[in-house]
Amino acid sequence: MRSFRIGSVFGIPIQLDLTFLLVLPLFAYLIGAQTGLWVDTLGQVFGTTISLGSLGEGVSPYLLGLAAAIGLFASVLLHELGHSVVAMRYGYPIESITLWLFGGIASFREMPENWKQELAIAIAGPVVSVLVGVVCYLGVFVLPADPGAAGSAFVFVVGYLAITNVALAVFNLLPGFPMDGGRVLRALLARNRPYARATQIAAEVGKLFAIVLGLGGLFLLNNIFLAGVALFIYIGASSEAQQTVMKAAFEGVRVRDVMTPADRVSVVQATDSVATLLDKMFTERHTGYPVVRDGQVVGLVTLEDARSVREVERDAYRVEEVMTTDLVTIGPDEEAMTALTQMQSNRVGRLLVVRSVGPDAGGLSTDDGSLVGLITRTDLMTALNVIQTTGSEGARAVRQTGPEPPGETGDGGTTDRRDQGPSERRTTDSSRSDPDRFSDRQTDGGDDDRSY
Ligand SMILES: [Zn+2]
Repeated sequence: MRSFRIGSVFGIPIQLDLTFLLVLPLFAYLIGAQTGLWVDTLGQVFGTTISLGSLGEGVSPYLLGLAAAIGLFASVLLHELGHSVVAMRYGYPIESITLWLFGGIASFREMPENWKQELAIAIAGPVVSVLVGVVCYLGVFVLPADPGAAGSAFVFVVGYLAITNVALAVFNLLPGFPMDGGRVLRALLARNRPYARATQIAAEVGKLFAIVLGLGGLFLLNNIFLAGVALFIYIGASSEAQQTVMKAAFEGVRVRDVMTPADRVSVVQATDSVATLLDKMFTERHTGYPVVRDGQVVGLVTLEDARSVREVERDAYRVEEVMTTDLVTIGPDEEAMTALTQMQSNRVGRLLVVRSVGPDAGGLSTDDGSLVGLITRTDLMTALNVIQTTGSEGARAVRQTGPEPPGETGDGGTTDRRDQGPSERRTTDSSRSDPDRFSDRQTDGGDDDRSY
């Protein structure tokens, strides 16, 4: 999705998605077209006596609608900030807040598994919405009973926001995962259940709720927007469940358990021609290689990179001219799930595993640590399949096959896993042009799954 950064609050980048720019005028139009209805509603709910008078004519209702729509999205932003501020207090960094078609998304790098923290973060958004609603409600009464045209416009907007903010809080507290209510539900379920089980239940409830909402919205209320929200909830619930199931499956599995150890990682020389590289890819049926110069890893090259060179020029181009030098690395003792998350956030199919030297193993360049192995998305997906097929036994098997010496040895796996190591398995995927890219699409269903 395309989005534009418009600024930052508390160090959190605030982004507008392209879909937001489409829906804002639509909202402005819809509110503008219904100003009369809203004036009546405000009169009934708050006893206001405003009449729009000249504001009800020409383009004025639509300007009023625009002001109300902007106020609504500002309210959504405050709601997301509510989640974010509480999360940051617990030490969870927020990557960004994005406003889009269905409101706001605060993207978390990781989610708390402590139920009390999740409960507090989940409830914070609706609490902020209620508070904003209360402030707007008070705003309705700051002006005298007959406030004139400008005053009436003000009362209209704050009155509208008072109602919609409370509606926002209520709607978000419906138990549809991944909405706030779903998270509250999971937090409460996780008090006396494993986190993964709590997620599954909350996700099932969310899906059921999404189906009811979708069908009701479509056939009873004839509201396609509601049906869209339902679809969004359904997808969100599924992907959150999938993410959590993976996390539970990979529990205790380390990068070194799944990676191809360095002595079995095939490399290419920086000075090799692209034609040579493609030959090698064809015969070894690998789609990505670390590139070495004088024994040092200097880059990574993939089939995609090689493809960027026209066929007639493949003899003339060298690997170092097409390789990626912006290397994403990971330490061998990191969690397997961390490797997957890193691949997703960097949008790459493989990570170099380097020996950790400093305290932060994650972002080391290869100059600081030597190459220990290579881990691909296919390795992770294969391991996941094995674990899921064989249950917890499988997880133990994957764990045990990795060497567990106290010091880190660069020479990789034990003999028993050579028979079923990831690269052998990778060759079974060779009928597909690029297995890692393929599974990219399978697992990248949404990068919004850690979000509020
Ligand atoms: Zn929320």
